[in-house]
Amino acid sequence: MEPIVAGNWKMNKEPGESRALVQRLMELVGDYKDRLVILIPPFTSLPSIGELVRNSRMKLGGQNMHWERSGAYTGEISGFFLKAVGCEYVVIGHSERRHIMGETDDMINRKLRLALEIGLIPIFCIGETEKERESGKTETVIARQIKEGLKDIENEAHKIVFAYEPVWAIGTGKTATPRQAAEMHQYIRGMIKKPSTILYGGSVKPENIDSLMKQEEIQGVLVGGASLKPESFTRIIRFE
Ligand code: PEP
Repeated sequence: MEPIVAGNWKMNKEPGESRALVQRLMELVGDYKDRLVILIPPFTSLPSIGELVRNSRMKLGGQNMHWERSGAYTGEISGFFLKAVGCEYVVIGHSERRHIMGETDDMINRKLRLALEIGLIPIFCIGETEKERESGKTETVIARQIKEGLKDIENEAHKIVFAYEPVWAIGTGKTATPRQAAEMHQYIRGMIKKPSTILYGGSVKPENIDSLMKQEEIQGVLVGGASLKPESFTRIIRFE
């Protein structure tokens, strides 16, 4: 399995800006091998970015989807719509959705189930808050998120990309040390038992990518802020 470098743009870049960013990124990155790059722009940019990446090695992902196929869910997005514009991946349970939008483990479980059913590869995010880490609850929280998230789909864990994203490291500039991240990855691997890809996310940047990727337990990264700048994302894609 190739290491994954995924860029989550969050609520940034309107369609024109998104296009310009990807065009510049493609120029800078040029040819690359031995890694899988996934672009995760806002929904409104998916169609045009989908066209741009169609003839490239880059893949496309959505930032979220609903747990139902269609229906009266104003403001929500169906996994089928993501597929229709070329997405192969979908982020599920991002900490901003859990903590700002109130997503529960049960909602996340339903989304994971539907994504698998319709053939989207979920990037399933898990991670503890600073308070949880400080009070020694990191493993309990991660165990609960995995157990509840994978309810009734434990045997399909190998079809899921896991992303360990300590909430205290997301968008804060604080990164887990490569050792801290590797330890948690080991713990997660022990829980899921199936061979799965586990990404690290939380203030990944050009300065720390090489040391993170040197850890055998880390199979890739989910990048927020640094994926918005073509130069820094290029350096991350070109990790050594
Ligand atoms: C993220 O959005 O998943 C993330 C890890 O953000 P950042 O890299 O900005 O911390």
